[in-house]
Amino acid sequence: MDEKDTHRKAKHCILGLDLTRNKVPLTDVKGRPQRLLPVWVIRGYRTISFEAASLLAGCPPWDLEAKTLASLYQCNKEVRGRGELPMPQEYARHRSQLRGVLLVEWRERLDNPSAGHATIAAVRPVMEDWLGRQHGVLTFRLTQILTGHGCFGRYLHRIGREQSPDCHHCEDRLEDTAQHTLEECQAWAEQRRTLDAAVGGGGLSLPNIVQAMVGSETAWSAAASFCEEVMSAKEAAERVREISMVYPSRRRRSGRRRANDDLRPP
Ligand SMILES: [Zn+2]
Repeated sequence: MDEKDTHRKAKHCILGLDLTRNKVPLTDVKGRPQRLLPVWVIRGYRTISFEAASLLAGCPPWDLEAKTLASLYQCNKEVRGRGELPMPQEYARHRSQLRGVLLVEWRERLDNPSAGHATIAAVRPVMEDWLGRQHGVLTFRLTQILTGHGCFGRYLHRIGREQSPDCHHCEDRLEDTAQHTLEECQAWAEQRRTLDAAVGGGGLSLPNIVQAMVGSETAWSAAASFCEEVMSAKEAAERVREISMVYPSRRRRSGRRRANDDLRPP
């Protein structure tokens, strides 16, 4: 199946046609296209779990979306079959009900995610607010903090880019994670004070940050600014280390591999 055909089938699937006419097997489009879309929306790394990426992006799993649309389609078909026209208010009410059912099923699936636990644990308690917010876009560096996939020692060590998961920016040399960057690292104390004040002083755990972000555009902007400033500095330091380090596996890396691992914004 070529890319054009895949997208055509994906579109049909989203329209619910697979469930109503049984022409397009849903399994054909559940893999790579469904996984790449939310990752692209949140400007994240391809290593981010589908469950976390789709939640951050507000993209429900396609089978749930298709079920909703198929139900709407059937409802309209029955109304027209009686020689009537669908009433806009009735249609909107039915659609809202189905959206509620979709959210319940989606939330249940996120009870036991296969990966992306920290992200899902932070967003799931405010899921409706996150999906329905009228402010705030995800940036490359904000997504790094929200997912832990980015310029952090633990992540870089995991993908073979660092010899150790330790932080290069503080004397304690603790494991460098998104949470260490947000809450502990001495190097970002000044930026942390500004962020803490903007989110109400309730602490900088990921759940607190996310709750503040969905509650206020000011807090969202403060979190985005913190991530932009801190992650830019971490990326610059990482590039300097990459140039200066004697790390044979890096020197052998092919051009294709370098492109895949590039930590610059996609
Ligand atoms: Zn540190």
